[in-house]
Amino acid sequence: MDHKDTLLEVRNLKKFFNIGDNTLKAVNDVSFDIKRGETLGIVGESGCGKSTMGRTILRLYEPTGGDVVFEGKTVNKMNNQELKALRRSMQMIFQDPYASLNPRMTVGDIIGEALDIHGLASGEKRKERIQELLSLVSLNPEHMNRFPHEFSGGQRQRIGIARALAVEPKFIVCDEPISALDVSVQAQVVNLLEQLQEKMGLTYMFIAHDLSMVKYISDRVGVMYLGKMVELAGSDALYEKPLHPYTQALLSAIPIPDPEIERNRERIVLEGDVPSPMNPPSGCHFRTRCPKAMPECATMEPVWKEVEPGHFAACHLYN
Ligand code: SF4
Repeated sequence: MDHKDTLLEVRNLKKFFNIGDNTLKAVNDVSFDIKRGETLGIVGESGCGKSTMGRTILRLYEPTGGDVVFEGKTVNKMNNQELKALRRSMQMIFQDPYASLNPRMTVGDIIGEALDIHGLASGEKRKERIQELLSLVSLNPEHMNRFPHEFSGGQRQRIGIARALAVEPKFIVCDEPISALDVSVQAQVVNLLEQLQEKMGLTYMFIAHDLSMVKYISDRVGVMYLGKMVELAGSDALYEKPLHPYTQALLSAIPIPDPEIERNRERIVLEGDVPSPMNPPSGCHFRTRCPKAMPECATMEPVWKEVEPGHFAACHLYN
């Protein structure tokens, strides 16, 4: 990965929401880079801030603090024209393909709308491009006049992918794109995303709530807990030698296909529910559920640190 240049830099990104007298720190001081052509997996339980982070990076939400730098340009300082060009470069694929597709529009118009907004094709060229995009995601180009309800869940997700690809983006945030699909079609969608990445040189941020889903598609994986990134490493390093107790617990919950290993391995069961992000525990946010918590974990926030080359963690065990 090191030879690839950086496409996107996220620097001390914060996104807070004021709810009544409280502040929800959905994304709280997160920093990382994404290299051109790589897939960065982002994992965490619901409410950890991963989807909010994806939306804030795309500037669908205004950041409360920090910077997003895309191809050397700071996103939050862009003027309207630069922002329009950015919207073309960065796209999103949503978890629920049905909810994200207008039921009253034909598939051709859903995809064509993206072409219209950016003035990319009109007339016969527009139709050809829509059909080309449908073929690209292995849908029948003849079906461009059908409506979303005439397709299966997996096919609808392919429509969502075609819509994102219409504007020839460089970076796509895939927000739990397979969570709502049957297990049997999950692998097909992941394979399609991988093929498209190769063909079109795409860069992905792939958000998921469990580590097994991002394992095969990600070059590196970041783990989030209550608005913080707690660990980030190359996929192999993260799965073989997780450093953070939260990552260790998440990994121990994934079944291993070998029955012998599965019988004998230790499973870390996390006590209690995820605390409210509105009122996270002091010090390390994970301390109320951490099997390795120490006294300093309650008083001091652990520092984000490169523990091994390319392997980052925020935990007092390594500070
Ligand atoms: Fe556990 Fe302490 Fe590390 Fe937090 S800082 S993960 S509580 S050991």
